[in-house]
Amino acid sequence: MSGNEVTLHDKTFSVFINAEEIKVLTQKVAAQIESDLAGECPIFIGVLNGAVFFVTDLLRELKMDCELGFIGVSSYDGMKSKGKVTLNLPLEGGISGRTVVLVEDIVDSGLTLQFLLENMDEAKPKALKTAALLYKPDAFKGNYKVDYIGKEIPNDFVVGYGLDYNGIGRNLKDIYKLKQTT
Ligand code: 5GP
Repeated sequence: MSGNEVTLHDKTFSVFINAEEIKVLTQKVAAQIESDLAGECPIFIGVLNGAVFFVTDLLRELKMDCELGFIGVSSYDGMKSKGKVTLNLPLEGGISGRTVVLVEDIVDSGLTLQFLLENMDEAKPKALKTAALLYKPDAFKGNYKVDYIGKEIPNDFVVGYGLDYNGIGRNLKDIYKLKQTT
């Protein structure tokens, strides 16, 4: 096995996006947000657990005033989206009248963000924006637009930098994709 590969449980993955590229993508998303939301003090809400690394790195690239919170949901079971989303934690503190940016590691079917957007809209924020490091356009089933995207990727299963395979792999610095075994 080469240094460009990693085995998690029963699967082998190869490097897809390295740490340097992740940093460049994060800086690009930060620049988009600063230009679009200039003069605002947004609340960034990271979707747990996957977005924990991306949202904290993203905020360290921002020079604007901002707040940070987290919300917990789950929709993945192994390597398949379960297609439904469960809200694990109620959001503390109000978002009424505030500009909110929901931050995801990856948008796949888009159902997680759709569920959050629909629920949080009831709290009457001033604006509700979405940001994701990775976006799978071929898998997307949402009826909204993801506002800030690091990179569009094919419909492959990826791990690392917050993304897990059955619980492990989140701590990998690079992002890996499932190796095809044909
Ligand atoms: P969606 O609701 O958009 O289908 O999925 C959102 C969540 O599913 C993401 O926040 C992430 O936790 C998980 N997910 C989606 N695609 C992948 C993937 O390729 N790899 C991993 N590890 N998780 C994924």
